[in-house]
Amino acid sequence: MVKKLKLTHTLTHSLTHSFTHSLTHSFTLKVTEHIQKAKGKTLVSFEVLPPLKGGSMQAIFNTLDALMEFKPPFIDVTYHREEFIYKKRPSGYYEKTAIRKRPGTVGICAAIMHRYGVDAVPHLICGGFTVEETENALIDLNFLGINNVLALRGDARQFEDKFIPEPEGHKYALDLVRQIVGMNQGKYLDLNIQNGEPTDFCIGVAGYPEKHFESPNFGTDLHFTKEKIDAGGGYIVTQMFFDNSKYFEYVDACRAAGIEVPIIPGLKPLTKKYQLNSIPRKFFINLPEDFVKEVLKAKDDDAVKQVGIEWCTAQSRELKAAGVPCLHYYTMGDTETVKKIAGAVI
Ligand code: FAD
Repeated sequence: MVKKLKLTHTLTHSLTHSFTHSLTHSFTLKVTEHIQKAKGKTLVSFEVLPPLKGGSMQAIFNTLDALMEFKPPFIDVTYHREEFIYKKRPSGYYEKTAIRKRPGTVGICAAIMHRYGVDAVPHLICGGFTVEETENALIDLNFLGINNVLALRGDARQFEDKFIPEPEGHKYALDLVRQIVGMNQGKYLDLNIQNGEPTDFCIGVAGYPEKHFESPNFGTDLHFTKEKIDAGGGYIVTQMFFDNSKYFEYVDACRAAGIEVPIIPGLKPLTKKYQLNSIPRKFFINLPEDFVKEVLKAKDDDAVKQVGIEWCTAQSRELKAAGVPCLHYYTMGDTETVKKIAGAVI
């Protein structure tokens, strides 16, 4: 249920709903409700990364202050699991140590909601979490009034060639979706808890227009995506793509498979020439030939960026004209570029 609360402090930006100082008394909308409320109008949303450890929250605020003019109804905040580093000991031997370089996802989400009165969507991953730690994280989110999560598996750790779940953790995002749905029904891990407080999470899941890289084929990947939706996923956010036909074909395939939920296209502008190789290597997607030719023709860094901006703007315009529910931009710390694109589209 959505309640309107009196605004108790001045916010410089127009709000999707009123908000109080206290997050515990705030009422937020779910991503799916934002989409319904928009009645076919294409929304704009952004994804931000937590700063590196030792960095300041101000970096996130600087990014978002510049993007609030587009009235994003929700902001995603990524989650980064621990990485292994090798520390040299006095003995001369190296010790393998796990550190999290970008902590703070939950805190950042709370800060975003508090400052802007905009819903925040923390990414929650299976990697590095036992099921109990996941439950505790969800309890924190629930107590903070954060009712949206994007449920993901996460990738392999650096230096590991495949994803290895925690011994007491989830192997697939599907298992995480099931756990969250269970909590929405008041089911906690401790079976002695009777009539547990039900949470009320809206759950998003990832989808791959060019298939997930580990999947043997597109159809198998789609089958497992459908399982996430059947289990309770309320919407899909796609991996980035540079060829809109991949997205349109993906939506058609999802609909044919019986997936009816909103499918939000994820977009990232290419801004550097080296990304012609690093994006396919990191994200297992193809870049269209016409686009690559234009980037290769560009004389300097500024010209490459301009090609990337124009391409992403054209993609966004076509997607908007096709009536997609939301244009979701991966900012990756490059506010200026994303701002130019969103400004040209909205
Ligand atoms: P899953 O849905 O679990 O799928 C993983 C693979 O297993 C797929 O190949 C799938 O086909 C297969 N599979 C699924 N279920 C089964 C089953 N029951 N049996 C056999 N095979 C199965 N990573 C982060 O670490 N942090 C983030 O914040 C983050 N944000 C992301 C946001 C978006 C929009 C996207 C698209 C990805 C994001 N990722 C993030 C990356 C994501 O964690 C990786 O792509 C990961 O490799 C897969 O995650 P998933 O949730 O899609 O996994």
